[in-house]
Amino acid sequence: MIENDGAKLEPVAEPEVLVVEDNPANQMLLQITLASHGYRVTVAGSAEEAATALGAKRPDLILMDIQLPGEDGLSFTRQLKANPEFAAIPVVALTAHAMSGDRELCMAAGCAGYLTKPIDTRTIAGDLRQYLTTNA
Ligand code: MN
Repeated sequence: MIENDGAKLEPVAEPEVLVVEDNPANQMLLQITLASHGYRVTVAGSAEEAATALGAKRPDLILMDIQLPGEDGLSFTRQLKANPEFAAIPVVALTAHAMSGDRELCMAAGCAGYLTKPIDTRTIAGDLRQYLTTNA
């Protein structure tokens, strides 16, 4: 149970997460790690694949690699945030760039948070939990 501005927020029980990541090793790592922590995981290798996945299923969270083939993750995030159908889904950016200014770019694009690679399998499932509360 998390207290937030006086409202009690219940964590999502089996969160549905859409992983948008083009690197096969990271896809596998995220799938295994998140599934072992009770997440239901869908993997998309590009923004185009992610758009298709979003047509079929509405995730509770999107984990968005920034560097993707074709449309990049920030551009795709901006599109989602401009679309009332998807704007409320939290997007957490995943990037290899730990350069100054990256965080600001991600937040300006509408991301709820920001994680840097390499992926830390010990902490990522817990790190994502903070974005998964709902007012249900
Ligand atoms: Mn990538």
